[in-house]
Amino acid sequence: MRRFTVHYKILLALTVTLIFVACRDSSRSSINNQASQPIATPQPTPLIIPVSDGFDYPVGRKGYATEAKDGDGWYVAQDFGENNHLGEDWNAESGGDTDCGLPVYTASKGMLVFADEAGVGWGKVIIIRHRLLDGTIVETLYGHLQSFAKTLGEVGRREIIGNIGNANGDYPCHLHFELRFSDCAAWGLPGPGYSNNRAGWADPSDFIDAHRPAAVNSSSKVRRKKNQ
Ligand SMILES: [Zn+2]
Repeated sequence: MRRFTVHYKILLALTVTLIFVACRDSSRSSINNQASQPIATPQPTPLIIPVSDGFDYPVGRKGYATEAKDGDGWYVAQDFGENNHLGEDWNAESGGDTDCGLPVYTASKGMLVFADEAGVGWGKVIIIRHRLLDGTIVETLYGHLQSFAKTLGEVGRREIIGNIGNANGDYPCHLHFELRFSDCAAWGLPGPGYSNNRAGWADPSDFIDAHRPAAVNSSSKVRRKKNQ
């Protein structure tokens, strides 16, 4: 009987030890299981696109210029749609590279979504997103810049974001300027610059004239196209 009691106690102690070890192992493996599960990737904070306060032209000190060579200092050398061009090429009327280094202004209040070297044919590019009063989001693109004055965050209308450049020597100095809607094939990116599929791109001057700031005198809405 005494022997049995000793054996019983040993058996009991072994059983308790085994249960303890088993519990420790199972809790350890559950920790390991948790650790091996994929960690949820934090979702990017949605960009807050400010509501536009109207659109100005991106060149010149007045916020307004015509596409024609008519003495206002600026003209469009290659129009939207000309040779399948997806933007307007703004040049100084003074000719040649006299516009190199002149300031490039934001067309409207918005959020900077791209500022980088975009390679051969582009040089430095800035893209800004703007929210219209009806909620539509559009982008303005500023290409071939010599330098950046701003690469992040919110911008105001007529804020200097860079200088006119030559795409690292690819062209005479000028500003390649695009106006896009969200269904364009290059939303948020520099894109092709030229394409016979212009879906999602708009004529920048036509768009600006249709969305001038409220305070602008209506007489300045009369403008001359490049070939007038
Ligand atoms: Zn161009």
